[in-house]
Amino acid sequence: MSATDYQDVVERVVAAARPYVGAGKVADYIPSLGEVDPNRFGFAVATVDGRVHGGGESATPFTIESISKLFALSLVLGHDGKEIWKRVGQEPTGDPFNSLIPLQLSKGIPGNPFVNPGAIVVTDQLLHDTGDAYGAIRALLRAETGDPQLHVDAVTAHSEETTGNRDRALAYLVADFGNMLNPVPETLNHYFRQCSIMISCEKLALAALFLARRGVRADGSRLLSEEDARGVNAIMLTCGTYNEAGEFAYRVGLPCKSGVGGGILAVVPGRCTAVAWGPGVDDKGNSVSAAAALEAFVKLTGLSPL
Ligand code: GLU
Repeated sequence: MSATDYQDVVERVVAAARPYVGAGKVADYIPSLGEVDPNRFGFAVATVDGRVHGGGESATPFTIESISKLFALSLVLGHDGKEIWKRVGQEPTGDPFNSLIPLQLSKGIPGNPFVNPGAIVVTDQLLHDTGDAYGAIRALLRAETGDPQLHVDAVTAHSEETTGNRDRALAYLVADFGNMLNPVPETLNHYFRQCSIMISCEKLALAALFLARRGVRADGSRLLSEEDARGVNAIMLTCGTYNEAGEFAYRVGLPCKSGVGGGILAVVPGRCTAVAWGPGVDDKGNSVSAAAALEAFVKLTGLSPL
């Protein structure tokens, strides 16, 4: 598809998602997210040549939340290769992202890197590897987007830190099973900040292009081996949209990662990334309007490899 074709697709996706804008409920368990206007919507596509096409509020920053988990995982895989898979599994749990039950049953080895305990273990590993997990994620995002201003929203980070007792419970349970390398408060401080990074659809689409480029970054260097890039995409497809990943695979048919801030990132390996954002989420945590947008995107372009 040419650049004009992509821009046309973006406009049509925005129109298709319009009836769903405002649907769902903003995630108010993190107080600062509860204040976001639910009637916002943005959509962007970035192609592997680094061009980006946006529609609606595609340049408006929103809170990245769980989408940060795929950048942490990619950095850890880039450092340690496969060592992280001794500490976290690769299977969907079918349970809510912050459930304690599967973690108890699996004796502190989280089911996958995208449920909260799995993501906390990945951040713990990144902190161990780099000394600054949040800083490493921010540096990657800044480099891939070319935006040196990209930063954490301090109010959201504080909001997460003061209300994050469930995440603390998960992390201490992991620690009790001997699967934490750093003190829990330190790892969680990095985890809460990585979740509170503000980024727009356009920038997020650019930041994740290395997954569409089979592991290669914007500057041509390699972050992931081809095999690990395929692995991250596979885990996005099977575990990236909470305990709705099966339904998402059916509806959208692309590797996706969502966050309770209302963003959903999708990867079309070899072609492009697409990011939709609408703050209203369903009872599993996935944005209603962003899901509708990605479904329309695949219908319009036929870009699902499935
Ligand atoms: N910071 C959020 C939490 O730990 C992330 C939730 C999400 O987007 O899935 O609950």
